[in-house]
Amino acid sequence: MPAKIPFIVKYDFEYGKLESLTPLIRRITARNPSGFTFQGTGTYVVGHGEVAVIDPGPLDSAHIEDLKEGLKDEKVTHILITHTHFDHSPAAAPLKDYWGVKTYAYGPHGAGKIEDGFTIEEGGDMDFEPDIRLKDGDVVQGPGWTIESVYTPGHTSNHLCFALKEENALFTGDHVMGWSTSVIGPPDGDMTQYMKSLGLLLNRSEDVYWPTHGTCIKDVKNYVRAFMDHRLDRERQILDCLSQGYSLIKDMVPVMYKDTDPSLYGAAARSVFAAMIRLVDVGKVKCESSISRLSEFRIA
Ligand SMILES: [Zn+2]
Repeated sequence: MPAKIPFIVKYDFEYGKLESLTPLIRRITARNPSGFTFQGTGTYVVGHGEVAVIDPGPLDSAHIEDLKEGLKDEKVTHILITHTHFDHSPAAAPLKDYWGVKTYAYGPHGAGKIEDGFTIEEGGDMDFEPDIRLKDGDVVQGPGWTIESVYTPGHTSNHLCFALKEENALFTGDHVMGWSTSVIGPPDGDMTQYMKSLGLLLNRSEDVYWPTHGTCIKDVKNYVRAFMDHRLDRERQILDCLSQGYSLIKDMVPVMYKDTDPSLYGAAARSVFAAMIRLVDVGKVKCESSISRLSEFRIA
């Protein structure tokens, strides 16, 4: 059985309303709930008067109007993007013009594309190009708030978390979420990088996480360790499947994810493939042909 992750699925929120969460953090939730976005995209607002907006969200006119209305008496000074999936970055385009502000992110979308037969809902925003590129450790500031960017590739190759120094808090985007594991979809998603980026969080001091989907996470280190254990368990399950004679990912997914809604098997297959690449990398699994999701795999 996969390691137990203490998911948090119950929390109070109201769509479209600028809600106060902590002295420095507010959030507006977009009306885009789904199997990939949970209750929807949580757009965070940091500070008061002069504020940063983190992940403006999908190109959804109601959400964009809610953000304009909610912040009409304040000055937005930065739009920060954790990564370039459709539910995070597209609203930056109209809002940066409206607010007359720059966008800050690691870079444009990386190698990931929606591929033959494996379309996922959470696609890449290929049009996004940040005005300012942030590297690991870069800092942006406003009155009363200081945000450091933390490079955490894995879910995507351009994923950043944002550390809010004054509250010892970390905005974790889709890297660590309270309600679900992250989808790691190769080629842009990379399991080896993801595991490294989880390990990186264990060496940091933040004691609360604010993911883009769902509510805050406390007891963060045990939480991160649970995610790492979960992936290692999945690797063990793959090795079990291979030793039972399964060689194709499509045949392993229903065995490994027998308690999961079949509508999520596409995403699961991407995750199994991502894990498989790591197993091939470390020499535990062999693939005779060039490696793809349709390849035949066996124990090395
Ligand atoms: Zn994402």
